[in-house]
Amino acid sequence: MTKNVKWGLIGASRIAAEWIIPAIKATSGNEVVAVQGGDGPRVAEYARTHAIDRAFTSVDELLATDIDAVYVSNTNEKHAPCAMAALQAGKHVLGEKPMAMTLDQAEAMVALARDKGLVLAINHHLRGMNTHRKLRELVESGALGDLVAVRAMFGVLLPEANRGWRTESAEAGAGVFFDLTVHDADTLQFILGEKFTRVAAITSNNGISTKGIEDGVAIVAQTASGLTVQITESFAVEHANTSLELHGKKASVFAEGVLLQRPGGKLELSVQGERKEIPITHENAYPRVIEAFAAAVRGEGRPLVSGEDGLAALKFAIAARMAAESGRAVSI
Ligand code: NDP
Repeated sequence: MTKNVKWGLIGASRIAAEWIIPAIKATSGNEVVAVQGGDGPRVAEYARTHAIDRAFTSVDELLATDIDAVYVSNTNEKHAPCAMAALQAGKHVLGEKPMAMTLDQAEAMVALARDKGLVLAINHHLRGMNTHRKLRELVESGALGDLVAVRAMFGVLLPEANRGWRTESAEAGAGVFFDLTVHDADTLQFILGEKFTRVAAITSNNGISTKGIEDGVAIVAQTASGLTVQITESFAVEHANTSLELHGKKASVFAEGVLLQRPGGKLELSVQGERKEIPITHENAYPRVIEAFAAAVRGEGRPLVSGEDGLAALKFAIAARMAAESGRAVSI
C-alpha cells in the first residue's frame, strides 16, 4: 500500500476551511496533519474545528515536521516566500493563486521546484470543472470550427466576508488582476489551447475596493493564433451570471454560471441561432486538484495546473495591469 501524502496547511484561510480541507479528506491517500497561521489562539481554534492534530505560528516549525506537502493559502504577498521556504525544506507545494506577486518570484519558484525534483502546482481549480473541460473538448475536437471571437464575463458582487485585504491592501495584492484575471487567464488558455500574446486594459473603481485599487476591468487580448478575446471582470456585478462565449465558424457555445468555486452552470450550443443545451454532470473540482497533485507526488502523472501554467496566468495578469497603468497594449 502506498503511504498517505501528509499535508501541512500554510494559512488558516477560508478557502482551506470551505474547500481544500474537505477535498483532502475526501481523497484517499491524503491527510491533513498540521496547520500554520499567524495568530496563535486563532490557529489553535482552527486546528480544533477542522480536527487537525498540530497547529503552528511559525512556518519554519511546520516545515520541520514530517509533512510531505504544503498548501499555501494565506494572503497573496506571502505565497512566494512561503512556497520557496517549503521547496527549500524539500516539501511539494500546492500554491494558491496568484502564485506570486512578481514574475521574478514565480520564475524562482518554478526553477527551485525543478532543481529539487518537487511538485509545484497552483490551485487554478477551474480547469477541473466539467463545464470548462467540455468547452476545451469542443474547441479541441473542432466541433465549433475555427474560432473567430471569444468573450468572458467574470462579474460577481464580492461577498462582504471576502472584502478586507482583497479590496483594501495593495501590499497584499488587492484588486481584480490578482483575484480574477489570473483565473480567467488560466481557464481561457486551457480552453483555447494556446497562450495570450498581447493585452490592453482599462480599469474602474465602483466603490467595492478602496480608492486607487481597481474593482473592475475591461480587457482586450489576443492569442498566438490571432484570436481576439474580450474579458470583463468586476467585484460589483449584482444582477447577472458569469459567462463564457466561444464563437466558431461551425457553431457558438454559450456558458452561463461558470468560472465559480461551486460546480454548476449551463452550456448551450448554437447553430444558426438555434440553441440546444449540452448536458453536464457537475462535480466538485477541488478533489480533482488534490487527486492529480497526489498522483504527481507519487510520480504517476502531472498536476492539474503546474507551476509553469501558474506562471503563464500570472504573466497575463501582470501584463494586463501594466497595460491599464500605461494606457498601451502590452506584449506578453
Ligand atoms: P482569508 O481572508 O480567509 O485568509 C487569508 C489569510 O488572512 C489567512 O491565512 C490568515 O492569515 C488571515 N486571516 C483570515 N481571517 C482572519 C481573522 N479572522 N483574523 C486574523 N487573520 C485572518 O482568504 P481566502 O480564503 O479568501 O483566500 C486565501 C487565498 O486563497 C488568497 O490568496 C486567494 O487568492 C486564494 N483563493 C483561491 C480560490 C480558488 O478557488 N483557487 C478561492 C478563494 C481564495 P494567517 O494564516 O497568516 O494568519
